[in-house]
Amino acid sequence: MVRIKILEAWAILRVLNFKRIANAFKTILNYYLTQITKYAIIKHQPLALSIEPTSICNLKCPECPTGTNTLLRPRGKISLVEYKKIIDQLPKELIYLNLYIQGEPTMHPDFPELIQLANNKNLYTSTSTNGHFITPALGKKIVESGLTRIIFSVDGTTQESYEKYRIGGSLHKVIEGIKNITSAKKKLKKRYPLVIIQFLVFKHNQHQLEEIKKIAKDLSVDKLEFKTAQFNNYSDSPVEPPTIERFRRYENTHRLRIKGKMLNKCWRQWHSAVITWNGKVAPCCYDKDAIYLLGDITTNNFSEIWKSKESQLFKTNILQNKKNISMCHNCPEGRSFWS
Ligand code: SF4
Repeated sequence: MVRIKILEAWAILRVLNFKRIANAFKTILNYYLTQITKYAIIKHQPLALSIEPTSICNLKCPECPTGTNTLLRPRGKISLVEYKKIIDQLPKELIYLNLYIQGEPTMHPDFPELIQLANNKNLYTSTSTNGHFITPALGKKIVESGLTRIIFSVDGTTQESYEKYRIGGSLHKVIEGIKNITSAKKKLKKRYPLVIIQFLVFKHNQHQLEEIKKIAKDLSVDKLEFKTAQFNNYSDSPVEPPTIERFRRYENTHRLRIKGKMLNKCWRQWHSAVITWNGKVAPCCYDKDAIYLLGDITTNNFSEIWKSKESQLFKTNILQNKKNISMCHNCPEGRSFWS
């Protein structure tokens, strides 16, 4: 536990410089000032961004718009040329780049190159994967690319339990994918990427928490995280929220009402944004179809979009009437747990 905390802290410290630290302070200051003034002050640059390598996925997870084929925006993958253009115009103050929104990032044929290009800008890089395509060769390339953190979704300790949510998936392949990264790290004598197993807790797998701890230990991963699942009601879902209170983000197992009182605030809006594979800039990963569009990076510069009228308007709405933004109703960000 102490070891992973040191490695996580070092991964952030090594990408910091004066400009980035000053911007981080400015971000925090602007965030608190906006709470007082109720006016969106955007005089800083984001600390974190997500770029979507591809919106295509091999699995059919029932609470995901990609898996249920209900994503309204086009499917595709970012071209290397477009990606390079985006990377080159990202603010120098940026600290963290997540290569994932929807879709399976490792299905992008140039995935290691995407990471490498981001690392050339001295960024903390992260991704989230179902692990099915990480062969020994790809595992080696990912480790060599300098990725900082990789999250593997493993939501079951038996094939039966795993595939109840990860429909079409193979637990064996994920485990092999994890091993291919950990063994490449050993061979190349690298500490990074930090390997994290993320276990979404549902009713059908909540009895496997001890078992997954054992698997994580046997695989020598750096960290195991239990996460509450997001429900979207895209279809007649075969999965249900857990009955264990602390692993549920909703008030009860039947009504999809997020715990806590919604407040007119959202820290994420002051420190991050997301960019889809075709260059649409959206406020956060809850905007699956980029409906609350802030701009298009294929026609405008990122810094212009970040401070655009659309961005200003969206953030002002958050500060004044977040209830009007439908996606915020299914998000735990900016909630009060005091009655
Ligand atoms: S859904 Fe709303 S509250 Fe949640 S991160 Fe996005 S903008 Fe913020």
